[in-house]
Amino acid sequence: MKTISLLGSTGSIGTQTLEIVRANGDIRVAALAAGRNIKLLEQQIREFKPRLAAVWEEKDAAQLRLSVADMQVTVLSGMDGLKAVAVCEEAEVLVTAIVGMIGILPTIEGIRAGKDIALANKETLVTAGHIIMPLAKECGIRILPVDSEHSAIFQCLNGENGRQIDKILLTASGGPFRTKSWEELQNVGLTDALKHPNWAMGQKITIDSASMVNKGLEVMEARWLFGTELDQIQVVIQPQSVIHSMVQFQDGAVMAQLGTPDMKLPIQYALYYPERRYLAGERLDFAKLGSITFENPDTETFKGLAYAFEAARIGGSMPTVFNAANERAVSKFLKQKIGFVQIYEIIRCCMDCHRVIEHPDVNQILDTEQSVYEFIESRW
Ligand code: NDP
Repeated sequence: MKTISLLGSTGSIGTQTLEIVRANGDIRVAALAAGRNIKLLEQQIREFKPRLAAVWEEKDAAQLRLSVADMQVTVLSGMDGLKAVAVCEEAEVLVTAIVGMIGILPTIEGIRAGKDIALANKETLVTAGHIIMPLAKECGIRILPVDSEHSAIFQCLNGENGRQIDKILLTASGGPFRTKSWEELQNVGLTDALKHPNWAMGQKITIDSASMVNKGLEVMEARWLFGTELDQIQVVIQPQSVIHSMVQFQDGAVMAQLGTPDMKLPIQYALYYPERRYLAGERLDFAKLGSITFENPDTETFKGLAYAFEAARIGGSMPTVFNAANERAVSKFLKQKIGFVQIYEIIRCCMDCHRVIEHPDVNQILDTEQSVYEFIESRW
């Protein structure tokens, strides 16, 4: 029996994690944390019986306490609640499926408490990879990637010597606007941006996929996870999303991980690593598929990817600026307050105005995030 805690239980990754728990029957859920969706969290508490639950607002926590008064569960709120879930004593694995930089502090607490981290919350590594990776090493815990591309790379590296990586080939579908020109991008709307051709995901990451900012965040995530140089990471467009990523080794051999686009596979792989379990679902039918095609990314049009490489090269607090600017810009786009290409404009402007802090600590990262938000609010 394995025991987990889960941050972001009501989201896309969170609910799929619980589907895996339900299907396997040998994982206990010690603690759950969510944001505002207390209706779904209540159902999850009744089904999985965690001893601890957390929501963001105290008023939601108060309401939830009343509705689960018949259950043996403590309900907390705010950052203290997230941290309590992260360090929950019984859990061996902390699944970080929360969205945004709010995941940094609880992840650090979880690592310090000796939990292996099944990491979906890429923003944590993008902005604080220089803190998280050495801390994970010091505390002797494993960071198990949940992001499908990083799980693919992790699987390709199974049994290999990580130092013999020549190149990481990070695949991307290219999103719903892959074939569009810069001019055409000016007029795309929210409904179009939310139509990912292959993957069903949360709203924020779906927009990030359309802008290719997501691929930029994944480049930064990969660099920390696998300890490679930025120049060793190449983004390859593979529109069918059949190859989830590849590793080229020093002898020229290329290993790839393929499968249907189903996030349950990487989630389950992280939960049971190094064991592989049966997973119900569609299998690849290569004859039906016919072909798998490849392209170079168009970084002139999808500027988010170029800006991400630039932010990663500059390093220090710049990835935080890139991430925070995008987070706030996407939130404005989702509320239809700005157009799609303004996401790039906001990121560019925030990066241009920032004075880099070389080795930011967690407080400096969070302060930088806050100042980016304030800057954006004062301008857009
Ligand atoms: P969703 O938006 O679907 O879910 C986000 C989760 O975070 C929800 O449970 C939400 O709670 C919770 N949350 C948000 N704010 C807070 C808060 N202040 N306090 C506590 N909980 C909060 O996101 P996804 O599941 O799509 O993504 C989660 C992470 O995984 C992201 O970092 C994303 O980049 C990454 N990822 C996602 C993939 C996917 O397929 N979806 C693939 C690879 C990576 P509530 O809804 O109750 O408010």
